Amino acid sequence: MLPELLNLPQGFTCFYCHEPLEGTTWIYEHLDNDRQHNDIDNIRLAHQSCNIKKINCPEYLIMAKDELEKASEKSLCVGESDTDQHYSSEIAISIKSRNYTKQFLTERINTDGSILYDDALWAIVNDLNEKYNCGSETAVRRYLKALTSITGKFTIIRNDSGKREILSRTEN
Ligand SMILES: [Zn+2]
Repeated sequence: MLPELLNLPQGFTCFYCHEPLEGTTWIYEHLDNDRQHNDIDNIRLAHQSCNIKKINCPEYLIMAKDELEKASEKSLCVGESDTDQHYSSEIAISIKSRNYTKQFLTERINTDGSILYDDALWAIVNDLNEKYNCGSETAVRRYLKALTSITGKFTIIRNDSGKREILSRTEN
């Protein structure tokens, strides 16, 4: 498993503190704390000391959770099917989800002029879970990021109360 882990962007550094690892001070860190769960997505290299620190360190716990979530996006819609089929159905769902996000924003903004970012985010996550039994906050944040990028149809502003609001990008 080590060669595969060394291929990750972190290389031979600690997943938590980003310092280089050396000697025998490092361990295979189980992100979900389940030592029986040895999928590569659940394992990162880390200092033993950082692993111990994690128990009482909210920042490290969040890092572990985010990393797992990144991986679970890939496998969120896993069925029992074989790998190819499984990937193509994931891609299909992710295209549908992205299109749904766009459609949702278009309809709401046509009707109401704008929508609060948080309202859009959680409504879309909820709708996708209802529709496809699949939809993660991280994935929807990514769709929103793309749709509000400089080439996207929408844009984000801060309203008077300092909240993020999504509007149509006007061409002028
Ligand atoms: Zn460390």
